Amino acid sequence: MAAESQNQPEISVVIPVFNEEDNLVELHARLAATLNQAGSSWEVIYVDDGSKDRSWDLLSRIQAQDSHVRLVRFNRNYGQHMAIFAGFEKVRGQVVVTLDADLQNPPEEVPKLVTKLDEGFDVVSGWRQNRHDSVLRKIPTWMVAKMTSKVVGVELRDYGCMLRAYRREIVEAMCASKETSSYIPALANIYAANVAEIPVAHAERAGGESKYGLLRLIKLNFDLMTGFSVLPIQMISLLGVLVALVGLGFGVLLFVRRLIVGPEVEGVFTLFAILFVFVGLQILGVGIMGEYLGRIYREVRRRPRFVIRETKGPDSEA
Ligand code: UDP
Ligand code: MG
Repeated sequence: MAAESQNQPEISVVIPVFNEEDNLVELHARLAATLNQAGSSWEVIYVDDGSKDRSWDLLSRIQAQDSHVRLVRFNRNYGQHMAIFAGFEKVRGQVVVTLDADLQNPPEEVPKLVTKLDEGFDVVSGWRQNRHDSVLRKIPTWMVAKMTSKVVGVELRDYGCMLRAYRREIVEAMCASKETSSYIPALANIYAANVAEIPVAHAERAGGESKYGLLRLIKLNFDLMTGFSVLPIQMISLLGVLVALVGLGFGVLLFVRRLIVGPEVEGVFTLFAILFVFVGLQILGVGIMGEYLGRIYREVRRRPRFVIRETKGPDSEA
């Protein structure tokens, strides 16, 4: 029975780790305490995303002492979402929970998510209360949330929170979509029939520093827009039609004016202005086409999304 539940735990927790040596020991202690107390069988999969500090050593030590722990190690840094995907491909539980390693998402909140999921939801998403991040970090998050809600069609107040729980089927669907860049919360909501959002606590980063700068967030947002819809290109087409109509109207106006008032010479500059608008639009259009083309190119190449250097823990067949 014990062996049975070891192989098929009820809950799988996936945690991406990138240079988190200051937080891992406390994180695992708190997580293990919480899950043992909750009473369900569980496993945790730490994915070391090419850490350059002592993270892997610490994880190995934790794994040696606790049979709930399984480890995956990337050969280099592929980013938080790829790390989570690598964990997703190994999970054995029926319920899958993701969590940040920096203790900003308190591990004590995990049972709350699982309980909510058991009410019959496919995905339960955390909504960070009293966020302990800088304003500069919150504004892009807010933008991402608005944009993603629109594009995915599932309204969430917090799309950036990685404290989330999924049914196994959703995770399998996500693993089956082998895109090279994917934003997990958005991808999950495409497959989920019903999504719940519940408030969760949010703490100051315990140690180390955030790995997300403004530039990386902008890239994420661009990724989201082009990765999940053809909305941008449709907007451009619409704008193109509008501008063309305005141009036509303006032409008619100039023609009528010429008949009544006579030719105007200074109008040359007006035409220049109009020309610039057109040229600008064209460049923008080409840029967005390029983005889509680039994506198609990337998908066609079918490169592996990540390379695993080693794994540890029960059933690490890879
Ligand atoms: N992370 C990762 N790979 C990366 C960047 C981050 O695995 O390239 C992990 C990191 O260790 C943490 C989580 O992703 O567990 C969230 O990262 P961070 O706290 O830096 O992001 P923020 O909280 O600022 O959004
Ligand atoms: Mg963080």
